[in-house]
Amino acid sequence: MKLQDLDLAGKRVLVRVDFNVPVEAGRVTDDSRIQGAKPTLDLLLDKGASVVLMSHRGRPKGTYKEDLSMAPVLEAAQEVLGRPILPLFSDKVLSKEVIQGAKDLEPGQVALLENLRFRQEEEANDPTFAKHLALLGEVFVNDAFGTSHRAHASNAGVARYLPSYLGLLVEREVQVLGQVLEAPESPYVAILGGSKVSDKIDLIENLMEKLDGLVIVGAMANTFLKAQGHDLGASLVEDDKLDLAKGLLGRAKESGLDLVLPSDLVVAKGLEAESGQVVDLDQVPGDMMALDVGPKTLEAAGGLLESAKTVVWNGPAGVFEKEAFSKGTMGLAEIMAGLDAKTIVGGGDSAAAVKKSGLEDSFYHISSGGGASLTLLEGQDLPGISAILRKDEGQ
Ligand code: ADP
Ligand code: MG
Repeated sequence: MKLQDLDLAGKRVLVRVDFNVPVEAGRVTDDSRIQGAKPTLDLLLDKGASVVLMSHRGRPKGTYKEDLSMAPVLEAAQEVLGRPILPLFSDKVLSKEVIQGAKDLEPGQVALLENLRFRQEEEANDPTFAKHLALLGEVFVNDAFGTSHRAHASNAGVARYLPSYLGLLVEREVQVLGQVLEAPESPYVAILGGSKVSDKIDLIENLMEKLDGLVIVGAMANTFLKAQGHDLGASLVEDDKLDLAKGLLGRAKESGLDLVLPSDLVVAKGLEAESGQVVDLDQVPGDMMALDVGPKTLEAAGGLLESAKTVVWNGPAGVFEKEAFSKGTMGLAEIMAGLDAKTIVGGGDSAAAVKKSGLEDSFYHISSGGGASLTLLEGQDLPGISAILRKDEGQ
């Protein structure tokens, strides 16, 4: 049963959103996560529901911290939604007044709770806390994809006590990433990069079966290149993963997968360097680190991607946070933006890199959940979502 099909007139709907937004000097500096929840909230309000919003922000570790209050978020959310939001704020998140306040909401009204992680019971998925949260609504909606890879009181917990549904944002994530796993249109190419092979082993193994092509970049590529016998100088290499990398390269070859590894690199003395120089693979000076991929690598990646119909990208090609080492990552973003393919980005840093490129609108899908998108692409269960879907099957 989908949210779109429900009659919610006069119902109180409790919604888990991801309002974990950056705040500086008491002001939200990027409201895109709030924007992400807007379609679901507009739908609920159009249907004549009242809405109780709940989210975490930062890591208060189970106690009240004034600087992690939802107060600045409330202001930003009022602007995004274009209507007043009632603060149902308690240092302990829940209280008699908070519960009464939720019950008193009229159709079309919106309220926001204080930071869920002021209570240690939230991340512990404490059943009593979940049951008390469930008192705030008659229906539960999970629209926070970013926390769905964890079973917390505010997702899997409340879902046990209320009729529960996926929000529009979560539904789209599940649909897009699910299709990539189950029935990707070929040619299907993945770009995998980022900092560590060890973070991404399950991802590589799960994707490899279905891929037609694979581009490996970022610090992760160093380990693969060294496994092939190349000298990477002072670059970050996971020496304890060389055998694993060799094994993966062997499997890639066996399955006839087109593979692109860096053929040139941008090197510098260290992460603090203000500029780098492009060198061919095997020309990395002993005291230098590879911090980005070079133009030849981009060209090879472009060639492989040209005819792709599905592209999944996880992991930047270099230290994109620094201008001097961002060309590889920005170049990949440009290549992807120009493709006639379903282009999908997963991973927190990768999504940030695409935003930095300014080319977001040319992508098919940029996942709103770093860890959650990786967990899904690894083929693992997302407890915050399966708690709802499983219930739906049982009903
Ligand atoms: P995601 O969050 O998208 O899954 P990761 O967390 O795996 O991506 O990797 C992102 C980080 O990898 C970035 O902070 C970037 O600076 C770093 N990185 C990429 N390439 C290199 C490199 N060659 N050397 C050191 N760090 C790198
Ligand atoms: Mg990351």
